[in-house]
This record gives sequence, structure tokens and C-alpha cells, in this order.
Amino acid sequence: MSTKSTMMDYPLTLTNMVERLSTYYPSVEVVSRMPDKTLHRTNYLAVYKRAKRLASALSKRGVKKGDCVATLMWNHYAHLEAYLGIPIMGGVLHTLNLRLSPEDIAYIANHANDKVLIIDDILLPLYEQFKEDVTFDEVIVVPLTGELVSAEYTDYEDYLKLGDDDFSYPIIDENDAAGMCYTSGTTGKPKGVVYSHRSTVLHSMTEAMVDGLGVSQSDVVTPVVPMFHANAWGLAYTSVLVGAKQVLPGPHLGAESLMDLYEGEQVTLSAGVPTIWMAIKQAREAEPNRWKTTANMRMVVGGAAVPESLLRAFDRFDMKIIQAWGMTETGPLATLGLVKNSLSNLNEEAKYACRIKQGLALPFVDIRIVDEEGVELPWDGKTSGNAELRGPWVTGSYHNNEGADDKFSKDGWLRTGDVCQIDQEGYVKLTDRTKDLVKSGGEWISSVDLENAIMGHPDVLEAAVIAVAHPKWDERPLAVIVVKAGKVVTTDDIRQFLEGKFAKIWLPDAVETIDEIPKTSTGKFMKMSLREQYKDWVWD
Ligand code: ADP
Repeated sequence: MSTKSTMMDYPLTLTNMVERLSTYYPSVEVVSRMPDKTLHRTNYLAVYKRAKRLASALSKRGVKKGDCVATLMWNHYAHLEAYLGIPIMGGVLHTLNLRLSPEDIAYIANHANDKVLIIDDILLPLYEQFKEDVTFDEVIVVPLTGELVSAEYTDYEDYLKLGDDDFSYPIIDENDAAGMCYTSGTTGKPKGVVYSHRSTVLHSMTEAMVDGLGVSQSDVVTPVVPMFHANAWGLAYTSVLVGAKQVLPGPHLGAESLMDLYEGEQVTLSAGVPTIWMAIKQAREAEPNRWKTTANMRMVVGGAAVPESLLRAFDRFDMKIIQAWGMTETGPLATLGLVKNSLSNLNEEAKYACRIKQGLALPFVDIRIVDEEGVELPWDGKTSGNAELRGPWVTGSYHNNEGADDKFSKDGWLRTGDVCQIDQEGYVKLTDRTKDLVKSGGEWISSVDLENAIMGHPDVLEAAVIAVAHPKWDERPLAVIVVKAGKVVTTDDIRQFLEGKFAKIWLPDAVETIDEIPKTSTGKFMKMSLREQYKDWVWD
């Protein structure tokens, strides 16, 4: 007879994490920047009690297991309460992206069949633009400003009073839905990804690992990445799991406000897209002695590639950038750019070359690169292919199976839409998104590599490289840049700056200066819009 495991079949649920939080870390603080810029201070015990009351009130008001409860909120204590309270009553936390157009928000809320909306009072003007197009049973308003909530809505504080302190948890299977997030539609119609309790717990445990982001109860964590963007990259839940203090920036994401928070609360770990850090870099360079942050502060940067110039600048500020690569579809962390111990004797330059890569796949995340026919390609650091992933926090389908036809391989791996190389050490280097590659005379040119190099030019603030049709070469790269105030940067300047770093045919044939690069709802360069803007470009 074969030997059977004697271990208990114990579900991995958020309920367990929430209970543990109240038992072990009741006094740990949760600090939120309010709309009027004051700081709201509470602790995990209070958050826990209010989350339980929210869970109870939702149940009393008829929200059932598997129902979606939408949030339209910034990062603050009440959003954290929703993060905890909704899944523990069996509901599905559906974070709506407040930077999308009112039409898109309505489309997504209807598509998910959201029953209830919890919204910040300061976002009601946005809701009012799409309220005719949606049918929530109830709209609950968080009075962040302290102003009276209009009678047509329910005041969040009153709603919590409906709930019982001794709410008894429903039985939850670890594979039950806990949260939902739509892709931001950078590449087509938004599609719903539904996280399970199990995927969220496993993602949190892996993120907390020392060779993950090393999040512990001695950390002070500030997700600048919004809680509506891929669960703030898991940081709210990971902090809950380990009992780390959270400092949430509310609606104030400007460089000065963030730096004040980092200094004032002695933040040790923060996370966001490169555009946020570019603004912080400028602020710090303008006033080098203004702020003192904790020694060895970690900054997780993801969502778009990290330019080397940014890595170097933050090293000078003693703020260590860790690059993360992932997608809404992947929980979201898939790889992390840490330098392996076996590579620790690399010289400084080689270490930077390693850190600008997207990094190593996390435990349980399997990665491969394949060609157009799906044939696996070698890990030689030279061959580029379409990256495919699978793992316990990688989605295997989309909500209602929509738009999934070309997103999964025949053997069930997620096609990321990213083109990567993987070297013999296992480091993933993202060269482009499939649709952003520049195809010039049969050769693929990486827009990401060019952009990152151009952003190293001392007078350039931002750079995006796009493919523009060319009569002879199919496509050629056009660089669109934003320069520092009062500076002029020409095509020749950029070509000279890049010479020697790339093959000649990679150099952009033209450089256009604009005031601002359009950004997506998650703060990335919106290349789709640039391509549209320059579609009639005529090469000299
Ligand atoms: P959207 O697809 O709308 O941008 P996501 O937030 O899910 O929404 O973005 C995932 C994509 O972001 C990835 O497929 C990849 O192209 C890009 N990305 C994420 N992290 C990185 C990174 N560290 N370097 C380069 N690109 C990244």
C-alpha cells in the first residue's frame, strides 16, 4: 500500500491572515494621508474590527458568497478595511480603476456584475458621470473629508454600525474567489482576472520571503502603486500577513508629499511605476539635503522597465531599487531583479547590467520563451521569444472566458505579450511588448533598450521610442522625448549619445521633443497614443 501524507488539509484563506493580524499585531499602525493632507492614524486592531463589521453589514444587506463588491478608492485605511472585510464574508473585492474614463468604469462594473460600490466622497463627481449606466444595490460613501454624505447614498460609518462585532465567518474554500481586477486595457478591451484566497495567500508568502521583497514586521510599507492596480502589487496583503506598518498616500502622489511621508514615517519599503520615481529623482536632485530617509530604503519599481540612470540615481540617494516584472494576470509578481549570491563578485558595472534585467522568476512561477510556432527557445541571453508563464498565482482564464482565445497556449501557459531573453543564470530581460517592437529591415529593435539609454542623457526627462512606417525598412524607430526646462536636445545629440551603445541601424532616425508623454491609467507611457499621433510621419 502506498504511503499517504498525514498532513491536514487546511485551507489557505485570507480569513486566517486577518485573524492572525488581530492576535499578533493589534497595535501596529496604519497611517493614511487624507485629502486635506493631514495624517489619519489607526492600528490593525481597529482596522480588523471595522473590517469584520463591514463583512457583517454586507452579509446583512444581502451580499452573497461570490458576489462582487466594487471599490472606487485611493490608498487609505478604509480601502484596507474593504480589502479585508469583503473577502472574509465570501465576497469578491473588485477594485475599480479611478483613472479610467467613466464609460470604461461603467463597462467594467457591469461586466463584473458588481452589487455594491464603496467609494471615497472625493470621487463622487466621477461616479456621477456614469451613475446612469450602472445599477448597484447600494452606494456606500467614505466621508474622507468629514463632510455630510448626501441622503441618496449610505454613509460608510453608518454602514459599519449595521454590522456585528461577533460576525461569524462563512466557510471558505481556498479556491474561492477573493478579489478581481481588470487589465487596464493597454492592449485591447479590459478583461477580468479573479484572484482566489489561495493565490493571494501564496503570493503574499512568496513576496514576504527574504529572497522576495523581504517584507517583515519591522518594515514600514508604502504602496504608491494604487490599490486598484493589481492589488497594489500584493503589498497590502503581504503587510497584513507579516504585521508590517502601512503608510498609505491617499490621493497625494506628488514627489514632495511622498518624500515627506517617507521621512516622517521612516518608511522602509515603497513601490510604484517608474514615472513616480522619475519625479522623486528630480525633487531630490533639486534639493539634495531636504529629506532624510531610512538607511537602505527599498523601492520596488515595476509596471515598465527601469532605466539604468534611475537605478544609479537612487543608489546615490541610498534608496535601493528592486525591479519587479508582472501583470494583472500574474498576481502580479512574476520575477524580481535581485543579484544572486553566486554573482556577488561581479564588478559594479556588471551588477547594474544584472539589475536592469527583470530578474529571476519567483518560486512556483514557471517561465519559458517560445517562437511564433510555440517552440521553446534556449536560455542563452541572446535569443528573444514570447514569454509564457504558469503558476499558482497566474490566471488560467479570464472572467467569463472572454478574449482568451490567443492568450493561452495549447498546454495552458499564459502568453504574456512580452518579448524576453533569458540568460543561463535564469535572468529574464524584457526587450519589448510584442506590439511595441520596431521591425526594421527584418531585424527587431528593442524600444525598451533605446528608451532606457536615452533617459540616461543628462538633459532628457522622459523618452518613448515608437515604430513608424518606413517605405524602405518597413519601420524605423522614432524617439519622442521630454527635455529639462530650458534645454534643447537634437536628433544628432541623441544619436551621438547612443553611438557605440547600439548597432548603427538601431539608432532612432528622428527625435521629436514634446511637452509630456501621454500616460496610461496606471502611469505608463501610452505608446498606442503616440503611434496614433505620429502615424502620418514623413521621413526626410
Ligand atoms: P497593462 O497591460 O494595461 O499595462 P498591467 O499592469 O497588467 O497592465 O501591465 C503588465 C505589463 O507591464 C507587462 O506585460 C509588461 O509589458 C509591463 N511590465 C511590467 N513590469 C515591467 C518591468 N519591470 N519591465 C518592463 N515591463 C514591465
